[in-house]
Amino acid sequence: MSAGDPIWIQSVGDTVPLEFLDSLAARLARVFGRSCRVLGPSLDPAPFYDPDRGQYWSTAILRHLAARFSDAPARVLGVADVDLFVPVLTFVFGEAQLEGRCAVISLCRLREEFYGLPPNPERLLERAVKEAVHELGHTFGLRHCRDWRCVMASTHAVERLDLKEADFCPACRRVVDTAGGFSADAR
Ligand SMILES: [Zn+2]
Ligand SMILES: [Zn+2]
Repeated sequence: MSAGDPIWIQSVGDTVPLEFLDSLAARLARVFGRSCRVLGPSLDPAPFYDPDRGQYWSTAILRHLAARFSDAPARVLGVADVDLFVPVLTFVFGEAQLEGRCAVISLCRLREEFYGLPPNPERLLERAVKEAVHELGHTFGLRHCRDWRCVMASTHAVERLDLKEADFCPACRRVVDTAGGFSADAR
């Protein structure tokens, strides 16, 4: 594996249209300067469902992806259309393994429809790109950035997501651009 490890996109559930995933892949390839492609069959999210919460546990999805792709020469981004949570939070837009191989995002709360507004496909893609770049940024070892414009700024509401940019500030960008390949035993 090298600094140019590609990014693979794994859909979680079969409700995310392939052409949306292709558009996301094209944007991620530009931001990270490495190849990005969409994998074949989607992953069934049913095993990760928590009936008490009516949501899906993102950490369990990450563990599954990490085990399944432990030998893959790539970073893997899961893209789900179901609502994700971690036990201490009401919901998450996404989660990642810090300096690991895998990340996952949810489109659920990025959709205008979730807030009772008409669908806006362009805004959905823009939000998904930001959330995907953010979570993948964590796999490069980046933590949250204090620059509110930086994609690594912490965001818990779509309004804040809309304010920040889909790219790294110069300091975060340096970390991504100088990252080596991750080792085989990385989480
Ligand atoms: Zn984060
Ligand atoms: Zn930054």
